[in-house]
Amino acid sequence: MSHFNTFLAQLGNHSDPATGAISPPIHLSSTFAHPGLGQSTGYDYSRTCNPTRDILEEGLATLEGGSAAVATSSGMSAIQLVFQLFDVGSHFLVSRDLYGGSFRYFNELEAKGIASFSYFATEEEFTQQLNQQTTAVFVESPTNPLMQEIDLVSLSEQAKALGARVIVDNTFLTPLRQRPLELGADIVVHSGTKYLTGHNDILAGVVVTSDSQIGEKLKWLANTTGPTLSAFDCWLFIRSLKTLPLRLDKQEKNAKAIVSALKTFSQVKEVLYPGKGAMISVRLHDAEQVPSILAGVKLFTFAESLGGVESLITYPTSQTHADVPKDLRESYGLTPDLVRLSVGIEDENDLIADLKAVLD
Ligand SMILES: *Cc1c(COP(=O)(O)O)cnc(C)c1O
Repeated sequence: MSHFNTFLAQLGNHSDPATGAISPPIHLSSTFAHPGLGQSTGYDYSRTCNPTRDILEEGLATLEGGSAAVATSSGMSAIQLVFQLFDVGSHFLVSRDLYGGSFRYFNELEAKGIASFSYFATEEEFTQQLNQQTTAVFVESPTNPLMQEIDLVSLSEQAKALGARVIVDNTFLTPLRQRPLELGADIVVHSGTKYLTGHNDILAGVVVTSDSQIGEKLKWLANTTGPTLSAFDCWLFIRSLKTLPLRLDKQEKNAKAIVSALKTFSQVKEVLYPGKGAMISVRLHDAEQVPSILAGVKLFTFAESLGGVESLITYPTSQTHADVPKDLRESYGLTPDLVRLSVGIEDENDLIADLKAVLD
């Protein structure tokens, strides 16, 4: 295949030979006429299959190096779709440092007796806890918000040896920086709300797999339970993917410049950055300063979410990870002195000046 920037810039192009439209049509029809009894154009009903969504899903599968993709209404609906693959009573081994909403969902599954979960913080803990009873492993890498990278090759090898599936939430790095299926994972999920769409304007989720049986089952489940993304949002998603390489390059360049600057600011104790992507966590010397920092920034907006062209500052303790109990959160390092930055595409010097004003 051509390079990803070429592929993405032209995604959906030439999809309407009748008119030659460069931008792919938005097929808003919920249902499709049958040519005759027992006949179909390939499209019957939009929950099952929609031409605009097809373009997006093929693009996403290619981008992650998978054979099938499902575009869903949010990251959480993508994660929920994946968990429907597994039988009641399944056991999951999960990275401890995790998006709070995923943790909340796993707790709900456990409380209802649908599945059980154990959590690992280090590679040693992973190896110790992995066993024949492990149905699947679910990880974020880098983790959120502590930015620890997990060796996905080693993790996948160990999991496979015991017959466990590997699911990776690839929201933070995107397939342009990490392709988990090539590293051994079976399934990749994304909050498409974040970098992939990148404008803080839609909610979307993605599931991709390279296993054709899992792919079939995911499509079947998506049709059966109905989380599929609407045609209009699929079009916005396609439009956004065309600039993903440009956005991510600029966001990452800004992030690297900000990391260097942060290290010189008097209030900063530690900068957590995995060396790629545009997410940064910052440990402060004094957690008491958090309210004035959040109130003082002018370019960074105090809001949850990430990955958009606009820079955001998030306080995981009270926002994204509020549903992780305080003692648990603090036991693994998610302490009240931590703020998280999602770096946008603004001018790097303006962003650095904004942070310097409140952190130095
Ligand atoms: C935001 C997020 C989710 C949830 O996605 P939504 O689109 O908000 O439903 C899942 N995982 C990670 C890593 C996220 O950042």
